[in-house]
Parts: sequence; C-alpha cells; structure tokens
Amino acid sequence: MVGIVEVSPRDGLQNEKTLLETDAKVELITQAIAAGATRIESCSFVHPKLVPAMADAEAVMERVPREGVSHIGLVLNRRGFDRAVSAGVDEINVVVPASDTFSKRNQNSTTDALTAVAEEVCAEAASTGLFATVTIATAFGCPFEGEVDPDRVVEVARRSAAAGAKEIAIADTIGVGVPTQVRTLLDGVRSVAPDVITRAHFHNTRNTGFANAVAAHEWGVDWLDSSNGGIGGCPFAPAATGNIATEDLVYLLERMGVPTGLDLEKLLPIAGFLSDQLGYRVPALLPRAGTFPG
Ligand code: ZN
Repeated sequence: MVGIVEVSPRDGLQNEKTLLETDAKVELITQAIAAGATRIESCSFVHPKLVPAMADAEAVMERVPREGVSHIGLVLNRRGFDRAVSAGVDEINVVVPASDTFSKRNQNSTTDALTAVAEEVCAEAASTGLFATVTIATAFGCPFEGEVDPDRVVEVARRSAAAGAKEIAIADTIGVGVPTQVRTLLDGVRSVAPDVITRAHFHNTRNTGFANAVAAHEWGVDWLDSSNGGIGGCPFAPAATGNIATEDLVYLLERMGVPTGLDLEKLLPIAGFLSDQLGYRVPALLPRAGTFPG
C-alpha cells in the first residue's frame, strides 16, 4: 500500500497559465474525492498578488466536501499558517527550499531562516493538534545553483522533525532527480528523523518522475504526491510537463500489485475535465492509451 496525495488543485493549477474559477476548483476536488483521494493539497495561503491562481483559497475551503478527506493548505510563513487555520484546513504543508538562491528568489530568505519559520509553525501546529508536513523543495537540484548537497536536505528534515513536523516530504521541484538520489535522500531523512512519516514529490520534467516514484515506493515511502492529468508544468522549464500524473501512477502501482485506494475508472474522466478547463490536452498518458487489460 502506498498513499497518494492529490496535488492538482494546488501545485498543478498554480503553475498553469489559465486561472480556474472557484467553481471549477471545487469540481476538481470533488471528483478527486469521488475517485478515492483521502488527502488533497487543496489550496495555498500565499500572497494573492504573488500567486493570483490561489487568491480564492478561503472560498475554495468554504465549499469543498469535508467528509472522508483531509484538505491540506500550503503555507510559506506564519501569516499563511494563521490564514490556513482560520480557513479550517485539516493539515498544513510548510515549504522550505534546500537551496539558498531558490529560497531568496522564491521566498526572499535563506534555507536557515525558512527552516526557523517551519520550526515555529510546526511547533504551533503540534500544540493545537494540527498535522504538519515540511516539504523540502529543490531537494534534488536547484535551477540557479545546480546540485544541492544532500546534507542540506537532511539538516532541514532534522530540525523540522525536532520542532514537531509529523511528515517530511522531499520534493524534486524542477524534475531533475533520479532514483539513486531518492534512496540517498530518504535514507538521510530516516537517519535523523526515524519516526517521521515520509512523502515524496516528483515532477516528470525529464521523464524520471515515475522511476523516482517506484524507487521511493520500493524504499518504503508512505506517501507519493501526484497530479490529476499530470498538470502543472514547471516555471523554470516553460515547455515541460508537470507533476507525475495520478492516473498513470495508479496504473503503474496497481499493476505492480500495490494498492493505492484510488479508482482508475473514476480518475480517468478528470483528465478530460481538466483539458476542457485549461484549453489543452493534459500530459497524462493513460487517458490516451486506455487501461490494460481493459
Ligand atoms: Zn511541485
């Protein structure tokens, strides 16, 4: 068994050129829940001027179905955390990039300072019983600095877990990672945070995303992130594809005999819905090829 966190409403839509109406986001989330998703990254509590696609986070949270699903709100700082709590999210995900240059460009700070923010937010979440994840972005490589030292990733994981993070996610933000890195990083996280729940986030930018997902599963990762339709693209590689596609991942895992709890028949139509909404054919391959044996 491996759990799948559906990230299309947040990571997917945030990186699409077309902005979806709140109604369409609620519809996407509703369809994902109907297909069996139990954890969904539903919105991001960032400044609406910086990320217009997420400006309606509160409105989305007001209208999504709540039963049987845990809605994750992404936050970058204390203000975002407070907004997420007010909006009634079920869990939060704090992002800390492992690269200083990426931290500076994306969040105007350093890895060290953002880890301190994550520590504060995780401690606050732990004190109120709210489940907190720390996602370590650019863990596999940085668009500005190139290679990222795995020790930097492990140090963020160590401090986050010590502060009360219940889950650590390693994220290949720009889709440069390979399976050997997956194992190295997960081993590193486990060595400093043996009790933490593990999660991995891959993009298929260079067609390594699914190999990385299998490597993470074989290592024993608890949760994998993926996006319906494989939407999202990559802000640093404008022509590239997006997150690994949920339907392709579910096909791959289920054919390996690994249950995911998701229903492919119900997942498949979501790609058509997204293609209509976004105005192009989404990258997922299963909706084009069909399931097998049928
Ligand atoms: Zn991502």
